[in-house]
Amino acid sequence: MEYEAIIGLEVHAQLLTASKIFCSCATAFGGKPNSHTCPVCTGLPGSLPAMNRKAVEFAIRMGLATHCTIARQSLFARKNYFYPDLPKGYQISQYEMPLAENGYVEILTDGETRRIGIIRVHMEEDAGKLVHEEESMETSQVSFVDFNRTGVPLIEIVSAPDIRTAQEAGDYLRTLSSILQYLEICDGKMEEGSLRCDANVSIRPRGEEAFGIRTELKNMNSFRHVEKALHYEIERQIELSEAGETMVQESRLWDPDRSMTVAMRGKEEAHDYRYFPDPDLVPLVIDVAWVEEARESLPELPMEKRRRFVRQYQIPEYDAEVLTSSRALADYYEACVREFPEPKTVSNWVMGELLGALHSDGKGITDSPVTPGLLGGMLRLVEDGTISGKIAKTVFEEMYRTGKDAPRIVKEKGLVQVTDQGVIEETVGRILEANPDLVEAYRKGREKLFGFFVGQVMKETRGKANPQLVNELLKKRLGK
Ligand SMILES: [Zn+2]
Repeated sequence: MEYEAIIGLEVHAQLLTASKIFCSCATAFGGKPNSHTCPVCTGLPGSLPAMNRKAVEFAIRMGLATHCTIARQSLFARKNYFYPDLPKGYQISQYEMPLAENGYVEILTDGETRRIGIIRVHMEEDAGKLVHEEESMETSQVSFVDFNRTGVPLIEIVSAPDIRTAQEAGDYLRTLSSILQYLEICDGKMEEGSLRCDANVSIRPRGEEAFGIRTELKNMNSFRHVEKALHYEIERQIELSEAGETMVQESRLWDPDRSMTVAMRGKEEAHDYRYFPDPDLVPLVIDVAWVEEARESLPELPMEKRRRFVRQYQIPEYDAEVLTSSRALADYYEACVREFPEPKTVSNWVMGELLGALHSDGKGITDSPVTPGLLGGMLRLVEDGTISGKIAKTVFEEMYRTGKDAPRIVKEKGLVQVTDQGVIEETVGRILEANPDLVEAYRKGREKLFGFFVGQVMKETRGKANPQLVNELLKKRLGK
């Protein structure tokens, strides 16, 4: 039997506000434990929450960017449960009346654009953090609690069950992360916990309407882990189904060391939390003018930018996708094209040499030692024939390492391209005379040797010979 998976994702994004959602404590990461706390975020009796306007504005931006309708009035509720990192014994969240509903996100997956529905975007507060003496809670004798994160503003973005494969889930998440970064409301880093994802997954025989029993996957803290966990879980459910066993609705943890999901607990239902409207907070009423103001201030979003890049710069879809993956990278690329208006050449260098070098150094585009001005300067030297494309790679490495400009590197290292026909002819002659056997073999049909001769000439000239001239002169001398 053929199966298909039904996947819905619940994504939590930490908002980049300076202060917490219901008090003025700092959200800054890495402070001394419990140094960013007050009676409100530690839930002391008699303290009262007050809404952070910036957090609402950020949530509205995400609601609009995901094509949701922003509710004129939304409500905060108490979600009751006990855990040591939750000092109030409840989390303030939105339940019945969320801030934004009924939107969608377009993703590029497997070369196609797909629309994933967004059920809701709502606001809530983050919980604190437990720090265990040992790595695992099970073996720890002592655990500590740090309330610095308690009350940091979050938005939860709930997708419709529109996702069908693990790869699609990964593409959807990367798109959300990129939208959040474009909006400058979340840094979008899963590895650092500012973006977190739970996945609901079930399977059904292809063609059937009804959903199967689902499991909820937790503890996936990178895009790759989400894909791997879903892949594993889909296979596990298919195996169970084929063996005629019954599925249980439960929460399962992804164990990255063993590359498998393990049962954690029976999945709780919404009614287990005894949600009720928080009596300390008035309904959140949003002015239409405020929403319109936010809508107008939205930046060009990744998908729009990608389409514009393809149209304006005539570069392949793939290039546009890579180059718009972050706003900073897209800005960098456009600055380079202004310096050197050959979009595809620029794209090759940015995506190849530059991103390669930055990646192996674990750096981002904003740390690039090669500025758009430097890159443009080097490409002009290639264009006017001062250096060959091959030498340009050497120049680029030097530029990346030292931050010096290309004309200076070329001058200091004597890298000017040899275009003097006499010099190249002489080298070609020398190489062919030194290898009479190979020349004969080539003439008898071992055409692959041509590359060897080119290589030898380039080696002799320390890569500086104009490759086109080398090719021409070699062909002439070899009589082809
Ligand atoms: Zn506080």
